[in-house]
Amino acid sequence: MIMENGGEMAMTNALDVNAVIQALKDVTRQQEDPVPLHAPVFSGNEWQYVKECLDTGWVSSVGRFVDQFERMLAEYTGAGYAIAVVNGTAALHVALILAGVKPGDEVIIPDMTFVATANAVAYCGAVPHLADIDPATLGLDPDKLDRYLHEIVLVKDGVCINKATGRPIRAVVPMHTFGHPVDLDKLIAVAEKYRLAVVEDAAESLGSFYKGKHTGTFGMLAAISFNGNKIVTTGGGGAILTHDPELARLAKHVTTTAKLPHPWEYDHDQVGFNYRMPNLNAAVGCAQLEQLPVFLRRKRKLAERYKERFGQVCGLRFFEEPDFAESNYWLNVLLLDPECRNERDTILAAAGKEGIMLRPAWRLMHELPMYRNCPRMDLSVSEDIAERLINIPSSASIWLDED
Ligand SMILES: *Cc1c(COP(=O)(O)O)cnc(C)c1O
Repeated sequence: MIMENGGEMAMTNALDVNAVIQALKDVTRQQEDPVPLHAPVFSGNEWQYVKECLDTGWVSSVGRFVDQFERMLAEYTGAGYAIAVVNGTAALHVALILAGVKPGDEVIIPDMTFVATANAVAYCGAVPHLADIDPATLGLDPDKLDRYLHEIVLVKDGVCINKATGRPIRAVVPMHTFGHPVDLDKLIAVAEKYRLAVVEDAAESLGSFYKGKHTGTFGMLAAISFNGNKIVTTGGGGAILTHDPELARLAKHVTTTAKLPHPWEYDHDQVGFNYRMPNLNAAVGCAQLEQLPVFLRRKRKLAERYKERFGQVCGLRFFEEPDFAESNYWLNVLLLDPECRNERDTILAAAGKEGIMLRPAWRLMHELPMYRNCPRMDLSVSEDIAERLINIPSSASIWLDED
């Protein structure tokens, strides 16, 4: 808009809600109504493998698919070992225990994450310590974390102690948000400096690589999720990744009730968990993993379309993978310009009316009643991004008929 004095108003950035909806429609038009945020695709051997489970009766804790699924995961990620469990939260819970997190410890997690990250810490009897995110990755900001820890901790006998609470800070949990990898080299350096164990929340990042190496293979342990909305699903499911054979053995042991191997005795040597993934779910998982390369290809194509189309829309930008990453583009992200943040709910409502499912960022951890009093650093970037972020439809099926 040209003002009388010839100057351009800030209105050049004005966001046209109809233009946003039109762009969404243009890119997703081949999808049937309504357009879901993320629908699973079962176009491979799912039926055949599930039928095999039902025909043979191996549906639960014994059967070939759990072993096969674990082997496929270990091979694809290069992790060395993968242990299949009932869901991603359980994977994170056990990974934290094996990383040495004890009741009364603190664990650094991002403020902007799915609640499971914080819950897994709480299950250990530990306290989430909330850290801010980097706008370039949407995950933990290693530089800000370094400056913060420098102020608030002392490292004594190899243990990082929070000077304010007196509690050990035992671990840090980088979460690869919507599939986009955290700057892992920097994060690992900070963790080493302060003697923190790294447990990656790679729940959303199967198929995402940092400098050519799969996410979830950088820390001591990692958790992946195979929930119905993730890039690969087993209905419900998760996996623990690790390079360490002893940690892998322990992970298998404690997720299978800590039962000692014996032909008939039921003997257990510690409080274990019944977290094993059933064979039925692993059967679906094997069929899904076979299709992962196809899912990844389609998702990249979809992200490219969005990037191109939203390049023509004012007042927002399409979030792209960081330079060092090859992301799985699990859930695509629009970021409204700061001055357009008030339009978020108008867009969500307008898209909903058109049958296009969008979603805002998660409620930030420090805003949830059970985590309100957790220790935390300045969280201004998380607060800013959470107000401006919109997830848009990202199913691998959107380009189904183009392959
Ligand atoms: C999905 C998810 C989890 C938990 O996975 P479930 O399988 O649903 O328990 C954990 N962390 C993040 C960031 C997730 O997105």
